[in-house]
Amino acid sequence: MRELLQTTARTKLRRLPERGRFERNTIYQILDEAFVCHVGFTVDALPFVIPTAYARVGDRLLVHGSAASRMLRALAWEADVCVTVTLLDGLVLARSAFHHSMNYRSVVIFGRAKVVSDKQEKLEALRAFTEHVVPGRWQDVRQPSENELKATLVLSLDIDEASAKMREGAPVDDDRDYESDVWAGVIPLRLMAGAPVDDVKLSKGIAVPRYASIYKRG
Ligand SMILES: Cc1cc2nc3c(=O)[nH]c(=O)nc-3n(C[C@H](O)[C@H](O)[C@H](O)COP(=O)(O)OP(=O)(O)OC[C@H]3O[C@@H](n4cnc5c(N)ncnc54)[C@H](O)[C@@H]3O)c2cc1C
Repeated sequence: MRELLQTTARTKLRRLPERGRFERNTIYQILDEAFVCHVGFTVDALPFVIPTAYARVGDRLLVHGSAASRMLRALAWEADVCVTVTLLDGLVLARSAFHHSMNYRSVVIFGRAKVVSDKQEKLEALRAFTEHVVPGRWQDVRQPSENELKATLVLSLDIDEASAKMREGAPVDDDRDYESDVWAGVIPLRLMAGAPVDDVKLSKGIAVPRYASIYKRG
C-alpha cells in the first residue's frame, strides 16, 4: 500500500521538508515498531503531554487506560489531540558542534479521538494492545472479565492527518570542516531485549514461551 496522506496546514513540513514522508505504509511501519506515544491535549486551556502505550488497528491508533484517567476523559470529549511517536536510530557525530544530529523516524498525528464502546471492538482493541507489544501473547493469557472491560476506556483516533519525518546516514559538515582531524560518524542505537527473568511467584515447571525467549524489536 503506497497511499499518500494529504498534507494539511498542520502537517506541511516547513523545516527540512525533504525528510518528510506521507505514505501510509511508512507511517505504519514506524507506528508498528515503536511502543510509546506522547499524547498532547489541553484541559482548561493548559497544555499536557502524557506518554502512553498504543496500538494500530488498520487506519486507527488506539489508546487505553483507566476510565478514571484525566487524559482519556479529556480526549473522550472529541477534543483536539496531537500524538507523536519517535524511534531513535543513531547519534550523529559531526566535525562541528553545530552539525551534530540524531538519526530518527518519527510520526505526528492530529485529530479527535472517539470512545470505542462496542464490546467486541473493545475486546479486539485489548488484543491489539497485547499483540503490539508481544506478538503471540494474547492466546496464552486469561481474557478480560466483564468488570475489567468496564473499567477500561479505549479511544480510537483515525490516522488521516499525519506526517512522518526521518533522518538517516552520515553527518553533513561544512566543506571547510572535512579537513579536520576530529572523528566523525554515527553511533547506531537499537532497542535490545535482555534474557527473560522468571516472576518470583511463577509456578514450578513453566517454561519461558518462545515469543519471550527470542523477543526482538525492529
Ligand atoms: C511507557 C508508558 C506506557 C504507559 N501506558 C499507559 C497506558 O496504556 N494506559 C494508561 O492509562 N496509562 C499509561 N501510562 C501512564 C500514563 O503516562 C499516565 O500516567 C496515565 O494515563 C494517567 O494519566 P492522567 O492524565 O489521568 O494522569 P494524572 O494523574 O491526572 O496526571 C497528573 C499529573 O501527574 C503527572 N504524570 C502523569 N503521568 C505521568 C507520567 N507517565 N510521567 C510523569 N508524570 C506523570 C503529570 O505532571 C500530570 O500532569 C504509561 C506510561 C508510560 C511511561
